[in-house]
Amino acid sequence: MTRLSDEQRRARREQARRAVRRRRQAVGGMLLAVAVLVAGVVLVASRGGGDPTVAGADTTAAGADAARAVSTADAQRRAQRARARADAAQRIRLGPIPPARAGTAVVSQSGPTAQRQIALTFDDGFCGDCIAKLVRGLEKSGAHATFFPNGTYDAEWRPHVKAIRRLVEAGQLTVGSHTFSHVNAPAVGAAAFGSDLDRNEQWIEQTFGMTGRPYLRPPYGAYDAGTLAAAGERGYTRVVMWNGTVADSNLRTKAYILNAIRYWARPGAIILLHANYPPTAEALPEILQILRRKRLRTATIAELLGGSPYTSAR
Ligand SMILES: [Zn+2]
Repeated sequence: MTRLSDEQRRARREQARRAVRRRRQAVGGMLLAVAVLVAGVVLVASRGGGDPTVAGADTTAAGADAARAVSTADAQRRAQRARARADAAQRIRLGPIPPARAGTAVVSQSGPTAQRQIALTFDDGFCGDCIAKLVRGLEKSGAHATFFPNGTYDAEWRPHVKAIRRLVEAGQLTVGSHTFSHVNAPAVGAAAFGSDLDRNEQWIEQTFGMTGRPYLRPPYGAYDAGTLAAAGERGYTRVVMWNGTVADSNLRTKAYILNAIRYWARPGAIILLHANYPPTAEALPEILQILRRKRLRTATIAELLGGSPYTSAR
């Protein structure tokens, strides 16, 4: 026999001892788990299905622990069910596109104030990266918003169709119309405005598989009686103006945009922003932080003003 085989024998004996220890530990752990389980079952049975948050007076320490575990799990399950119900109520089914319902076009600068809701609205979309950042920001934060795209920026919007549909179906996003070519309605006249609005509706339907009706944001905020008549007869009965703006039709710094939000954010406000320059999209997380501090909840235009063709609630 060599010294090496002695060492091998010692190693094997040590290995066997360790295996026994592991088995004992495993059995011990299992027994402990069974004991806790039995204590929990006995406790629940003894309370006869009463309020699970109230522990009986005769509980052992292990039983109380088990009761706490049961009641925490119950509370978690209840919270999960409540969240699922709220999410389901908010969810939208994008079925077949509902036909246009002609009506009188009503102009809104703001919404009701009672629920401390605020609508962030993003127009145009000539910056694809900005659209991408806004979409990701909404997905990450769960915030609600509204897009008013122009079909003339199809190349910028098209890569985000799937994500935009997901956001709409989650109840987080409303898509309205801003005309196809960003026309100044009173300047071009009702007929030209109407056909440009038709063209954008076609683009929204074919691109996103949904309608922009009934929400119209007139480019430049410009409209007259002829504009409203042309919009109304096409089912664009909600003309969405604004009562707060970050003035980002031109390039602004993020600090400028955040200051404007601090200034304009209030219950029922409709805020005008654009998907045109990076600082606006980059500011989104901080915009949402400011709104949270002001105890304002972001809402889609459909939530703020009602009228969505996809929800039966309004
Ligand atoms: Zn615009």
